[in-house]
Amino acid sequence: MSSVDYQLVVGLEVHVQLKTLTKLFCGCSTTFGAAPNTQTCPVCLGHPGTLPVLNREAIRLAIRTGLALNSTIPPTTKWDRKNYFYPDLPKGYQISQFDQPICQGGELKLPGDETSSPRTIRITRAHLEEDAGKSMHDESSGSADSRIDLNRTGTPLLEIVSEPDIRSAEEAKQYLTELKLLLTYLQVSDCNMQEGSLRVDANVNLHLQRGDELVATPIVEIKNLNSFRAVERALVYEAQRQREVFEDTGQRIGEAPKQTRGWDDNLQVTKVQREKEESSDYRYFPDPDLVPIMLPESWVTELKSDLGALPAALRERLKTEFGLSQYDADVIVNQGPDMVAYFEAVASNLKDAKRASNWIQQDVMRTLNDMEYSLADFSIKADDLAKLLQLIEAGELDNSRGRDVYQWLLDHPGTPEEGMKALGIASVGSDDLLDLCKQLIGEHPSAVSDFKAGKKQALGAMIGAARKLNPNANPGKVKDLLSQLISHED
Ligand SMILES: [Zn+2]
Repeated sequence: MSSVDYQLVVGLEVHVQLKTLTKLFCGCSTTFGAAPNTQTCPVCLGHPGTLPVLNREAIRLAIRTGLALNSTIPPTTKWDRKNYFYPDLPKGYQISQFDQPICQGGELKLPGDETSSPRTIRITRAHLEEDAGKSMHDESSGSADSRIDLNRTGTPLLEIVSEPDIRSAEEAKQYLTELKLLLTYLQVSDCNMQEGSLRVDANVNLHLQRGDELVATPIVEIKNLNSFRAVERALVYEAQRQREVFEDTGQRIGEAPKQTRGWDDNLQVTKVQREKEESSDYRYFPDPDLVPIMLPESWVTELKSDLGALPAALRERLKTEFGLSQYDADVIVNQGPDMVAYFEAVASNLKDAKRASNWIQQDVMRTLNDMEYSLADFSIKADDLAKLLQLIEAGELDNSRGRDVYQWLLDHPGTPEEGMKALGIASVGSDDLLDLCKQLIGEHPSAVSDFKAGKKQALGAMIGAARKLNPNANPGKVKDLLSQLISHED
């Protein structure tokens, strides 16, 4: 049997920490990194007699996300208690949403690239819930010492659940990349995976063809996926593992209990954590302390008109209005809205937008990366780069001298023209150029005869020599004048 006789089937649950200043039901700060248990109050600690008060901003950010995912925003939504017992959950239940989530249905379009065509992944739902605290197990001391930090308890999460439409580990990564980019453009989350702002669970099984029958293996939920790379590796590992188990046991979906497995990043394996709970195990019921929320249509309409330009639309704009390739449009859009604005400001002043794209990708992005700058701190403003590229477009500078001016602009305040003056780059006068070309023809007799014999590239050596004699001589002009002079020699 070949190793690729199965189809991987994946649905993802992405927990996104919403960028609110305070928690979902109390006024405690959500700032990351504070000393343990300093950002808590009787409400998020679950003291008896306290009552939750809803944070309106979390609702706004959830609706914004839902609208960008083409979800339906219902006129009302409500809160339910999800009951389970765990040390990091002081109330003994989590306030979540069970049967009336704030975002219903939807889709995320994956842009595709050279190796894959565009695909649409359906969204089942997105619901709001409060985060739990964090247990810290110190296994190194040998004392089985466990501590708890409840700073994160009550922080608003939006759990975005996809349909099982994802068909490969690579596609899972594309989905997560596109979703993270969208959330960044929407400014609903900082999406910082190291700080736990974006956490992924994957529901995975295989479809296998057995004669005329399509067979499915039991679904496994993988938890603890803390990077996109972990997601990819865990899916590849799990596909292989499930196929081996199927070969051994023949167990199909429904014939074995659902399993929850955790990804061990050190060992690069998934390990069984528990037999998965069904939703009935959580005894969901409506939270009696919280009334249902009305979501007026006028508010939803207002939020929809305020979404701003999103990645998919911006890619199309860069392709249709500026003639960029899919690849170039992707690179620029992936840098975020500031870079798109910078590109458009430069490119709209040039005849060839591709030149702006090349310089931004090769020079600007490298500078930002090397210096760990954001675009807001970058000293070469769009107007200056546009002017510099206009000078290159007009033949006043070649790319190499253009890079010298670019470097000067990084180090000095001033305009590209001032940079040219400071660097002694002036247009070489026509008399000087004529003398230079005559000298070159005298010094390169074999290149001259090669050129006469039809080898156009023979001029290359002479243009290289011209650069050494006078770095300010424009190579294009040298080339034109050389071929004129040589052609007229006969
Ligand atoms: Zn609190």
